Order: sequence, then structure tokens, then C-alpha cells
Amino acid sequence: MAGSIARNLSLLRSDVASTARGCGRDPASVGILAVSKTFPPPAIEQASEAGQQHFGENRIQEALSKIPAVRRKDLTWHLVGHLQSNKVRRAVELFDVIHTIDSEKIATRISRCCEDLGKTIQVFVQVNIGEEGQKSGFSPRQVSEIVRAVDSLPYLSLSGLMCIPPFHENPEQMRPYFRATFSLLADINQYRAKPLTALSMGMSGDYRVAIEEGATLIRLGTAIFGPRAS
Ligand SMILES: *Cc1c(COP(=O)(O)O)cnc(C)c1O
Repeated sequence: MAGSIARNLSLLRSDVASTARGCGRDPASVGILAVSKTFPPPAIEQASEAGQQHFGENRIQEALSKIPAVRRKDLTWHLVGHLQSNKVRRAVELFDVIHTIDSEKIATRISRCCEDLGKTIQVFVQVNIGEEGQKSGFSPRQVSEIVRAVDSLPYLSLSGLMCIPPFHENPEQMRPYFRATFSLLADINQYRAKPLTALSMGMSGDYRVAIEEGATLIRLGTAIFGPRAS
């Protein structure tokens, strides 16, 4: 196992760069978020020693014990899982970026906690791009309204949109959802003075397609750390 995280990261970086170049994009416009859920601090430390700066967790409970146990204190932490309102304060204390704004209520609470703690937090609005009943996130037609609401909250800095499309073995079948999320962002930007530039989309199985459709931050777990125990 030793060294395999560093090797995975290095292979991924070159693959991400060549995928970006292949579709006419600047490789520097695509960032990698290492989703470290279920993996222990030493795995995170290995990745950070290999130059990885951004890490993602999906559960507050897990992050609460794990983040303080990671020896590197200069990492950037992203919450990529659903946030319950009773855990907002913890989330604001632990994380620098929240990808999962899925209700106006949660956005308002995050802003209030940020005010108490004297910090501003970067956020993404989560879009339920496949309009799946069991998934959180706003349906595409609600997005412009929530974007306006988030813009009006003083302690939130909105980066862009995040999506988790319906899963398919064949990533080509996910392309229309990534494309739709990109065009949703373009629609919103038509009415904004300051355009939103970030699209958090693409995971280990489909990141190439996501990059081709405009992802600026791909969220990779398995491809970096290996399979998770279920
Ligand atoms: C777990 C997770 C990922 C990473 O998934 P992999 O398929 O292991 O790359 C990305 N995004 C979210 C929201 C996740 O929960």
C-alpha cells in the first residue's frame, strides 16, 4: 500500500491534465478534491505529502474526530455530504467549503453561525440534476431563486453549483446531466454582474466526462485511496 496514494495522485493529475487539454481546456482550471471519507488520518497525510491540498468528508460525526487528528493543519476541508440543521455549527467550525446547500433554511443557519464565529464560508448550491426523489438538492428550476437567496446572505460566498447525477455504469450516460448543470450555471450568469465560475461535479468513475462538460472541481475518493470497506 505504501506509496500507492502518491502514485494514484500522480497518475490522476496527468490524466486530468490530458483530458482537459483534449477538450481545449486549461488543465489549471480543473481541481482535484480528495474525498477521504472512511479513510484514516495517515492516508490523508500521505496524500498531502504528495501535494494534495483539498480534502472532502461527507459526515460531520466522522470529520469531528478525524480532522483534528490529521497532523497537517494547513489543509482545506470541504463538506460534500448532506448537512442537518443541528450540525451546522460543527460544520462551520470544521470546514472551509460546503458543497451541499440544499435548502434555504440551511443556508440561513450557516450564515448565522459564521457571523457568531467571525468567518465567511465558501458554498456551492447542490442541484438535484436528475430530479431523483431520494436525492437532496434543488430542482433545476429552483436554482436561480436559491442563488439569489444565498447571494443576500452576508457570510456566505457562493462559488457555483454542485451535482451528483443519477448513477450509470457507463459514464457516457451521465454526460447529459453534467451538460445540463453547466448550462444551468451559464443561465444564471446571464443575470449576474459577477459570474459564478465553479462546478463541483465528477467522481472516480466519471470524472473525464465531467471535465469535458465543464467541471472545475472533481471529487475523487476511490481513484485516490482505493475501494472503501462497505
Ligand atoms: C464519496 C463521494 C465522492 C467520491 O466518490 P468516488 O466514487 O469514490 O470517487 C464524491 N462526491 C461525493 C458527494 C461523495 O459522497
